[in-house]
Amino acid sequence: MFEWNETHQMVRSMMTRFCAEEVVPHRDALDTEQMLPYPIMRKLFDTFQLGHLQLAQHNKRLERDKAGKEHKPKTGPEAVDDAAMRAIPVIELSRWVPGLVTAMGVSVGLTAGAINARGSFAQRERFCPDLLSLDKIGAWAITEPSSGSDAFGAMRTTARMDGDTFVINGQKTFITNGPHADTIVIYARLDRGEAPEDRPVVAFILDGDTPGLARGKAFRKMGMHSSPTGELFLQDVRVGMDRLMGESLEGVSGGRAAAKSTFGQERTGVAAMALGMIQECLDRSVAYAKERVQFGKPIGQYQLIQEKLARMVVHRQNVENLLFRSFGLAGAGKKASFAEASASKLYCARSTMEVCLDAIQIHGGYGYMAEYHVEQLARDAKVLQIYGGTDEIQISQIARDLLSR
Ligand SMILES: Cc1cc2nc3c(=O)[nH]c(=O)nc-3n(C[C@H](O)[C@H](O)[C@H](O)COP(=O)(O)OP(=O)(O)OC[C@H]3O[C@@H](n4cnc5c(N)ncnc54)[C@H](O)[C@@H]3O)c2cc1C
Repeated sequence: MFEWNETHQMVRSMMTRFCAEEVVPHRDALDTEQMLPYPIMRKLFDTFQLGHLQLAQHNKRLERDKAGKEHKPKTGPEAVDDAAMRAIPVIELSRWVPGLVTAMGVSVGLTAGAINARGSFAQRERFCPDLLSLDKIGAWAITEPSSGSDAFGAMRTTARMDGDTFVINGQKTFITNGPHADTIVIYARLDRGEAPEDRPVVAFILDGDTPGLARGKAFRKMGMHSSPTGELFLQDVRVGMDRLMGESLEGVSGGRAAAKSTFGQERTGVAAMALGMIQECLDRSVAYAKERVQFGKPIGQYQLIQEKLARMVVHRQNVENLLFRSFGLAGAGKKASFAEASASKLYCARSTMEVCLDAIQIHGGYGYMAEYHVEQLARDAKVLQIYGGTDEIQISQIARDLLSR
């Protein structure tokens, strides 16, 4: 059984201090989009030397691969500890500004993660260091105006070959960091004359200033204002083989599997965010239930309020257990199956939404006011049920797995 140890608690209090000094003072500016998330993300990386740590690990892995040594994932207590340490900043930042985690997770986890997992050795050496240190910001673009849940089936962006060059045309939407990204992993269907449904899905690594690539302004949206979201337009973008993920057309049909493995990773990551948001709502609700007096008694004395608090605790425990399970899997050198990652994401997203709305309810009119913070968390929480696959898609994936046995 995993339990937070003293070192974790110490790192946690360092993160709490970081949030109090570097995040909370900018909460309004981030929530009103007067400030971008990137300076705070970089400050976090500098303060905790996260860039150096990631680069050191990356270089070690490259050296090992160069020497042709087999990659054995870390296992045992060290792997559990690594997973727990990675979750702590996510939990603590999510108590205040979950959008910072989204912007950071897409840049480092999804963009650098995708290149590291599927890029050629040269691409990993070329693109990952700047992304892992946050010197460059990344975006990971699969969604299109008419292809969301059916990300591959309805994908219209195409890459056609013209001699040695790929010519990419299409449009992407709802792309986190899209308006600002320096490096963009973009998915397209390779058009070699096959029927549209038979065209393999491939990925390209583009620079933000590649000719033919244009971006829209950040969308106005319901929440997660600290995580800019936008459109990308690709008109006759011409790139060479060095920009095709993996730098080879052999085994090119693997693009879907690559994107799917990134989805799995994204889904597992939601538990730490959910835990931070739920814990913050719970702490604030308990404090408020003790201090707010109506009809001559603190509202915490009323059973209808107690029921909401108790449900929050149940959600907190379950979400924490799902997170601990992911640490346990890391310790065993395993990954959650796609269906298990979907089940975890579904539960965490729904719980967070329920807890945030109940926190507003407990705070009454004050809960509806921005000053009380739970209002922002509720707006931010909704997207957990949409991005990384909607709740309905998680359900269908869990069911597909169950019924295929
Ligand atoms: C803030 C934000 C950030 C995002 N960041 C990124 C990013 O960085 N990169 C990226 O590529 N994408 C990103 N997305 C896109 C996100 O992944 C999609 O919005 C999501 O997958 C849903 O697609 P859609 O919006 O087109 O909805 P649709 O797929 O059109 O779904 C509409 C509704 O129909 C339901 N539905 C669809 N198919 C089924 C079915 N088979 N059975 C039952 N119900 C179904 C859905 O669950 C939903 O309720 C982001 C989205 C948001 C909101």
